[in-house]
Order: sequence, then C-alpha cells, then structure tokens
Amino acid sequence: PIYFQARFLTSAPDLRRMPQDLGREVAFAGRSNVGKSSAINTLTNQKSLARTSKTPGRTQLINVFPVTENAALVDLPGYGYAKVPAAVRRRWDQVLPEYLAGRDALRGVVLVMDLRHPLTEFDRQMLDWCTHIGVPVHVLLTKADKFKQGAARNRGQNVGRQLQAEWPGVTWQIFSASKRMGVDEAHARLDEWLGL
Ligand code: GDP
Repeated sequence: PIYFQARFLTSAPDLRRMPQDLGREVAFAGRSNVGKSSAINTLTNQKSLARTSKTPGRTQLINVFPVTENAALVDLPGYGYAKVPAAVRRRWDQVLPEYLAGRDALRGVVLVMDLRHPLTEFDRQMLDWCTHIGVPVHVLLTKADKFKQGAARNRGQNVGRQLQAEWPGVTWQIFSASKRMGVDEAHARLDEWLGL
C-alpha cells in the first residue's frame, strides 16, 4: 500500500503556518488517548510516525505526513482531555474549525473513536462542524480487539445507526491497531478521498 511511504514533513500550530498546497489531504481527529496515533502508525505501517504516547494532550500541533507529491495525511491535535489547561482547549476550539473550514486541500476527516466510548461530546462537535462545512467523515471505531468479534460488530452497527440518524452520509468501520483489523477498509476510504 502506498500509505507505507508516508513520511513526516512538518508541524504547524495553526492553519496559517501550514505548508501551502499539498493537493489533497485527509485529516485525522480524535479525543486524546483514543488511539489516533496508533491508527496512523498502523495505516502507514510505521512504528512512530505519529508519536504514540500515554501522556495525553502532548501532541498539540498539526502534523503533516505526505504520502505522494500531492497527497497527505494530517494529524490534528488530540482534543478534550480533562488535564489540558483551559487556554489550550480554547485554542483548539479555534484551530480545528479554522483548519476544517479554511483548508482547500481537505477532502475528508477520519474521526477516531474508542469503540468502548463512542460519540463523546467532542465527537459530536466534530461531526457537527464537518457536516456544517460539508467535509465528509469516516468514523474509525478503534480498539475493537477489546471485544469478541461478534460483540464488536454489534457495537459498531449500533454506533452506525446513531451516526446515520444524526449525521446522514457519514461512513464508519471497526478497527484495531493492535490486531491490524480494518486496515484495508480504511485504506480504501483514503484512496477514494485522495484519488490514489
Ligand atoms: P492518541 O492519544 O489518540 O494518539 O492515542 P495512542 O495511539 O497514543 O493510544 C493511546 C493508548 O491506547 C495507548 O496505550 C495504546 O497502546 C492504546 N491503543 C491504541 N490503539 C489500540 C488498539 O487498537 N487496541 C488496544 N487494545 N489498545 C490500543
């Protein structure tokens, strides 16, 4: 898969300081500690492209990972961990919607949720923002390995029904970084958005 070629280009604190035009981008968003870095590392088959960390809220920058000359994955700051100072949280409330609304290259958002605790207030906020702006969303329900296969599927379908009811058009899948589950399906969605 072409995503194995992804490399780190740069980090930016906000939209204004991002590299100019990368053609097409897919952004990854999620609450801190949800498993977003692990998902990016799994999809790119790299140990520490997105730094996995057990210290929540450490990745406060927008990280850009080009895959080809005109396609990139973008890691958005993790969001909403209780220990993050209010000032940092307020900044995210500006940086995220500003990026979502202002980035011409943005083709879709992968919203990473923990299958055990989906649709948090942050997730709903992201879904509302993206729907409002008209950016398509693919929900990655990760840590599916925490359940038996049937139970994971049932939970996924449940979340899928809620998504369809409130945010029609949003797609979803179950995923596990530890078991490398759902990788092909996620790659296929990225292919569509990035034209790869
Ligand atoms: P981030 O803050 O959203 O980037 O989260 P990380 O990727 O750093 O993961 C947070 C914690 O969840 C770490 O302890 C990971 O090992 C764990 N984790 C991430 N993905 C999975 C998964 O698919 N299955 C399980 N069981 N644990 C995971």
